[in-house]
Amino acid sequence: MIRSFLILVAFLAQLTLHAEEKGDGKLRIIVFGAHPDDAEYKTAGVAVKWARLGHRVKLVSVTNGDIGHWKEAGGPLAIRRATEAAACAKKLGVTSQVLDIHDGELLPSLENRKLITRVIREWKADIVIAHRPWDYHPDHRYVGVLIQDAAFMVTVPFICQDVPYLKKNPVFLYSSDGFQKPYPFTPDIAVSVDDSFEQKLDGIHELTSQAYEGGASGSEESMKSVPPASDEVARRAWLKRRWGARQSNEADRYRELLIKLYGEEKGKAVKYAETFEVCEYGRRPSAEEIKQLFPFYDAK
Ligand SMILES: [Zn+2]
Repeated sequence: MIRSFLILVAFLAQLTLHAEEKGDGKLRIIVFGAHPDDAEYKTAGVAVKWARLGHRVKLVSVTNGDIGHWKEAGGPLAIRRATEAAACAKKLGVTSQVLDIHDGELLPSLENRKLITRVIREWKADIVIAHRPWDYHPDHRYVGVLIQDAAFMVTVPFICQDVPYLKKNPVFLYSSDGFQKPYPFTPDIAVSVDDSFEQKLDGIHELTSQAYEGGASGSEESMKSVPPASDEVARRAWLKRRWGARQSNEADRYRELLIKLYGEEKGKAVKYAETFEVCEYGRRPSAEEIKQLFPFYDAK
């Protein structure tokens, strides 16, 4: 009796393993930002598009954001920001995670390399997105370095053996930035977020401490130009003006790439875009594979 029970358990375990290995045909995307707003700002539009197709997206903040405000700090701010990130993720239809590392104190240490390696493996990522390692904020820079350091390690069997290694190296991508040295951001992928822009705003609207209060760069003075929380309509319109300018600027700057990927007519018509550059350390996708990983170009 016990023996047949054990055989059954072993059989079921094998079935589960088989199902896991086979996967369900859905993509698994993980985005790393340094603070609980970075991944959301850079990728919320495309994250929504993936999520609508049933693909799984996780937004990770590598630090807890506990000095990211001009008026408050510490544990209460970390809790506030994790709550904001969770509310934002809910609006976007994705998962979020905030790692408990102090804001402004992230280092590209061996400990953190292993941590990031494990987080990528646990998500069984097909696509990993992060900052480039050239950025104004040290936490942003070191997220970029840590992701580069993990890009090969995630496939190496004898490191972090407690989490199964990835048999297929993910594609690693950089999110956009405006920094020029040592070389400017050079996207290989540009996605229209016209049909997800409003939902992106819904998400960002939840990041009150940053989107409306200005985070660490805010002040009593700067708050005066932002409509108050009591005037939801004006606040939302204010947010849309700011983000509309930002995302349409990204579309205009990389218009040629949009035309290349969408064709002349659709590419020219894109109003809002998010863009990504392929990192040379992970799997290098062909043009064909890029269209499988970003299955948006033939639709609509
Ligand atoms: Zn940041």
